Amino acid sequence: MNVKSRLPEVGTSIFSVMSKMALEHKAINLSQGFPDFPVSEKLIELIHQNMKDGHNQYAPMPGVPSLRKVIAEVITATYQRPTDFETEVTVTAGGTEAIFSTIAALIGSGDEVILFDPAYDCYDPAIRLNGGIPIHINLKQPHFAIDWQEVQDKITPDTKMIMVNTPHNPSGAVLNEHDMLALQEIALKHDLIVLSDEVYERIIFDDTSHQSVLKYPDLAKRSIAVFSFGKTFHATGWKVGYTVASEELNREIRKTHQFITFSVNTPIQFALAEYLKESKNYMYLGKFYQQKRDFFLNQIKGSSLKPLPCFGSYFQLLSYEGVSTKSEMEMAAWMTKEKKLTPIPVSAFYKDGSDQKLLRFCFAKSDTTLESAGKILRMI
Ligand code: GLN
Repeated sequence: MNVKSRLPEVGTSIFSVMSKMALEHKAINLSQGFPDFPVSEKLIELIHQNMKDGHNQYAPMPGVPSLRKVIAEVITATYQRPTDFETEVTVTAGGTEAIFSTIAALIGSGDEVILFDPAYDCYDPAIRLNGGIPIHINLKQPHFAIDWQEVQDKITPDTKMIMVNTPHNPSGAVLNEHDMLALQEIALKHDLIVLSDEVYERIIFDDTSHQSVLKYPDLAKRSIAVFSFGKTFHATGWKVGYTVASEELNREIRKTHQFITFSVNTPIQFALAEYLKESKNYMYLGKFYQQKRDFFLNQIKGSSLKPLPCFGSYFQLLSYEGVSTKSEMEMAAWMTKEKKLTPIPVSAFYKDGSDQKLLRFCFAKSDTTLESAGKILRMI
């Protein structure tokens, strides 16, 4: 049979590849981003209770109303953006589905989408599978910043969308107010849609405040913000996220969402609706992960690998410039096999394969795991 691949150059995601390698070599896995500490007992009990109460059939296509209601309240309170739960929130099977459904709904043949490298791995294929043309722009060193003049220069009559991600995976950089105003101006001027991946919205450090597209009224009107309960409640395996967008945009997203997943699992949505009511269940997150970051940084003091600034997300970049001439992939594989510690090569997030001697380490781990990783890194 002649199978014609729609993604011929795509292999298995780097997260699966590195997690598998870590397992094979019994290495500490700081590659794929997921916490190794438990989900709240209370939240698990709530799910169990909802299952026992019979909430086990299809949820409404856009999400359980009580969950959408609390989401809308939290969004309104956090970003001062009045949000209508009936029309402006859609619960999705994680951030990845939210991104895919959004692109499938709004991007068609020949539409150009601007995205910034290093970029999360699902963005580019989602654009191409839907006939769009990804326009990759590299973030500028040393701070992984957006060069807005370059963005302006890359806009053509076919540009339809800009994708941003703050706090940023893999760099830990965050967009500031100046960035948001520049984005707003460009989006308005060229009538662009903005797809904003904000799954690490609550994991932000050092009194920096998260700059959501939803905070800027003119930008919010033309944006889709994507969020993830997996990140906020340490439950990446549940795959529950959501979009917030105007009724006009969200209506289109629901059209694709209904044929991609139809609806998201019911008892977890009911449980989240309860759990999200109490702000103490998520307000601690920035401080909690800041401590993790600092603990990790402390553990690696004395290592020849040098940390880059990290303002948000649960990823720390380390540079091995001057330590080895290996490529990032070779270094990540060597570290896994010889040192029993697995990171992600940052080159995997670049279309042009940029290799800057940078590795990404996930610090959403117990102190014991971070201690063991630190011990290894101090000896490199
Ligand atoms: N978001 C996670 C990361 O960046 C990976 C999720 C996945 O494996 N698809 O590591």
